[in-house]
Amino acid sequence: MNPPTFLWPDSCLFGLFLSHDIDQIHDRELFRILGDVNHIRRLWMLGERGSVGLALLRLLRAVFVPKRGEGDFRTILEIEAQYGFRSSFYVLHDPYWSRYGPRYTLRSKVLHRIVQLITEAGCEVGLHGGYYRFNNAEGYRESCDALRVALGIEVTGIRNHFLRFSFPETWLAQEAAGLRYDATFGYNDVPGPRDGRILPFFPVDPQTGRRIDIVALPLKVMDVTLFRSLGLNGERALAAAWEVIEPVVKAGGLVSLLWHNNYFNEPEYWDWQWVYEQLLERLAALKPWCATGAEIAEWWRVKEGL
Ligand SMILES: [Zn+2]
Repeated sequence: MNPPTFLWPDSCLFGLFLSHDIDQIHDRELFRILGDVNHIRRLWMLGERGSVGLALLRLLRAVFVPKRGEGDFRTILEIEAQYGFRSSFYVLHDPYWSRYGPRYTLRSKVLHRIVQLITEAGCEVGLHGGYYRFNNAEGYRESCDALRVALGIEVTGIRNHFLRFSFPETWLAQEAAGLRYDATFGYNDVPGPRDGRILPFFPVDPQTGRRIDIVALPLKVMDVTLFRSLGLNGERALAAAWEVIEPVVKAGGLVSLLWHNNYFNEPEYWDWQWVYEQLLERLAALKPWCATGAEIAEWWRVKEGL
């Protein structure tokens, strides 16, 4: 492994980008409850992994004593603040009732309180791009406007829902919509850097050879990949994540993690949170430069002289 060829800010040897896609925030919510009912059915009939008892308790909780929407965000912010880390949260914009839409609306008072918590902690709110908008500049513009109007947030960064992406259309559409960086580039079903990309980069349009004015922050590890796609749990999930992270650290790259807020404080999914906590503890000991996606992208622009 070659030593790093440059230093990150504060003379750090690697970068750290922590992020969270906000697909849902409400405990007592129709799609969420239907999802849990379906999960219990699959546990019984198809042998899906999980615990029937804990799933039933979760369902009862959602119906009778739903947890507060802000709670999981407080937990995330507390875990990260222990190490002085700050992260980026992406708010999904699409029709509420659509199959792949958000399970909340931008008018939700809970969402507004969550956004306030995030910004007060010095973290970033970006856009989680809608399922069908991944190559549509007008759709991106509409979403940026919606977040500005509803939340008073001027977004500069994006990650698409389900990592929806096509090359180069996604980046061209984001550029046309005035976005500054994209955190979508990664795989859903396997951990590790897509195309071996461990550093931020400016994509190039293959048709024209032009540099696209978007900083791509490539993803390395996502919770759903470990626990769903690979079916890992506990120590094995942690080991698989570290296997990907360690070479990126050694090469002086950008370690990018994506953990969903709705798997925090969930007894049935205890190891999703546990692996995140373990990874942060290990990474903190190695002293990364941890910043929001927006800060990393702007630093990369300066470094590249662009
Ligand atoms: Zn999503």
